[in-house]
Amino acid sequence: MKQLIQLCWSQEQRERPAADRVAFILTRLSDKNLQTQVVADRKLTEDAYARVALDQKQAQEAEAGRVAQEKKQAQEAEAWVALEQKEAQEAEAVRAALEQKQAQEAEAVRAALEKKQAREADAMSALEKQQAQEAARSFCTACGAKLSGGKVCASCGEKI
Ligand SMILES: [Zn+2]
Repeated sequence: MKQLIQLCWSQEQRERPAADRVAFILTRLSDKNLQTQVVADRKLTEDAYARVALDQKQAQEAEAGRVAQEKKQAQEAEAWVALEQKEAQEAEAVRAALEQKQAQEAEAVRAALEKKQAREADAMSALEKQQAQEAARSFCTACGAKLSGGKVCASCGEKI
């Protein structure tokens, strides 16, 4: 374009281009400029599409990140609940085992005590029986008089 202007202002008559030649060159330059503009417009449009696509991608990534975070938090909360349940079950098992052990010990003590009392009652009964036998040998069963060791009662004559 600058070269064309210089040629048009040239001192030499024969160097100045004819009007149709100037028109041809200007037309060509205009077409080229138009093509450049179209390419620039297309690039702007493509950039705008690319920006929209990038915005959408970033929004999708942010949403995916948010969903993943929520899922992780929910899983952590579930894990906490499960842990608390497990601890409660373990505490309950320990309590039940302790109660059972205490009940068994109490039962063992009660049974041992009963056995001991039964043995003592037997011993007492045997002692009473022995005392009764000794009394029967010492006194006459018929008249109640004290015996002196003979085969018959000295008081009533009853056989011993
Ligand atoms: Zn007698």
